[in-house]
Amino acid sequence: MAAVENGSAQLQSALIFLGTGCSSAVPNALCLIRPSDPPCTVCSQSLTMPPVENPNYRCNTSLLIDYCKDNGEHKYILIDVGKTFREQVLRWFTRYRIPHVDSIILTHEHADATLGLDDIRAVQPFSPTNDIDPTPVYLTQYSMDSIVQKFPYLVQKKLKEGQEIRRVSQLDWQIIDNDCEKPFVASGLEFVPLPVMHGEDYVCLGFLFGKKFRVAYISDVSRFLPTTVSYISKDSGQQLDLLILDTLYKNDSHNVHLCLTQTLEALKILCPKRALLIGMTHEFDHHKDNEFLVEWSRRNLDTSFFIFRPTIVIMDDLVEALKHFSFSTQNLGCVQSAIFRSIHGNMMVWYGAWIKRSTENKDSLAATLLSMLTSVSSMAILLEHGFFDAYAGESKDHSPAAKFYTGDIVSMNSASFSHHDIMPIEDFTYACLAIFKDRFQNMNGAVSGVCFKSQQLSKVAAVFVWKSLQCCYNVGGQTRVAHRGGPMKGSGGATPPPNFDGNSIYT
Ligand SMILES: [Zn+2]
Ligand SMILES: [Zn+2]
Repeated sequence: MAAVENGSAQLQSALIFLGTGCSSAVPNALCLIRPSDPPCTVCSQSLTMPPVENPNYRCNTSLLIDYCKDNGEHKYILIDVGKTFREQVLRWFTRYRIPHVDSIILTHEHADATLGLDDIRAVQPFSPTNDIDPTPVYLTQYSMDSIVQKFPYLVQKKLKEGQEIRRVSQLDWQIIDNDCEKPFVASGLEFVPLPVMHGEDYVCLGFLFGKKFRVAYISDVSRFLPTTVSYISKDSGQQLDLLILDTLYKNDSHNVHLCLTQTLEALKILCPKRALLIGMTHEFDHHKDNEFLVEWSRRNLDTSFFIFRPTIVIMDDLVEALKHFSFSTQNLGCVQSAIFRSIHGNMMVWYGAWIKRSTENKDSLAATLLSMLTSVSSMAILLEHGFFDAYAGESKDHSPAAKFYTGDIVSMNSASFSHHDIMPIEDFTYACLAIFKDRFQNMNGAVSGVCFKSQQLSKVAAVFVWKSLQCCYNVGGQTRVAHRGGPMKGSGGATPPPNFDGNSIYT
């Protein structure tokens, strides 16, 4: 797996992924010694491609943090030392010119995290009498007890009487707590332990670290503990810049690891700015599955709405101006946009979807967008604008997202409450979601719908997509709907909420 490379002057920190594979590593030996028919495409690549060029060649999960201190000095902190450690040293330490390891952190004591500890002597200075500074190893008491059994000779302090000196890894064992509130410092960098369940009978550690960027590394997890979630989730105000997360199988589930479906669910809950997946079996094909993940990431979008009231009658001019606006927003990270017009011509809505990373600084983005609306401002008054999260969707064709095309009818409701209300926005969104789901089930002709939660205001909105204007009109006889406008993507509509407790966007 590729590394996040150093800058050319090497004056910055870097993460080097020494391994991103499961315990048995990839290629899976069986796929090569008893090949299936047809052979496993992921594993057979290892027969024709050097490992260093092959992202489908995955050793045991392990991360090397190349930490550049303020004085420019580099410290090398290794997380986990698995069965494939020696191979990882030969491949990546040479490529990235890593001269030694300054400290070691263990997530847990399983074989794929610890069985390379014997080989640590290979990256330590040579001394036949073991007369060197030991490398600190940070681990829990539970892991320590297991290491004593696995490697008694690495823990033993003094030689027994008559025992010959033999050269072994020199390690300085440091016990850490599996407690988020008890951080520790390794080679000058602070780490917050992140306890997670790795099977229901086992607690494993992930780690949170980083000064400029908040990074969490969680390699072995089947379930998150609430306290850990509160340290790394966007909802608790602790959004991560990067989450490195376990995913074992693509299609199946597993009792002690997250698999792809659960990993993606976890990403939605934790909502890091960026995520990298590790721990994969040969089910995963790096290039093919990354294409899927790019698509998936795109679906996790910020949406924004600009609502206008036209001041002139020539709607086509306004549409042209908004189309020009759409075009300009592409440079700012907008990946999809649409223009809606209400049937009465008294409302225009511009909708844009943004990749979350491009909207980190919403205030300045909003200011830029407003400044780009000069040609529109002579034709329409901006009534409202804001960013929304899509938080639930329904579709009658079982596709995972609401889709709309030019010619579709779209109806929108919004509901808001003032700050005088005591209900938290989460409860409010759940209440609106319940109404949304109930309505969607009973609305013949509505093909899909999606709920949006405002990021700035106590407000939610629901959008329904209809294939026919007639269907939309027929719902309870209570609906006023707009007809689509000629050159526009989508169309405009208004559904005053028959049982939706709040204000409609449309008046
Ligand atoms: Zn295979
Ligand atoms: Zn494990």
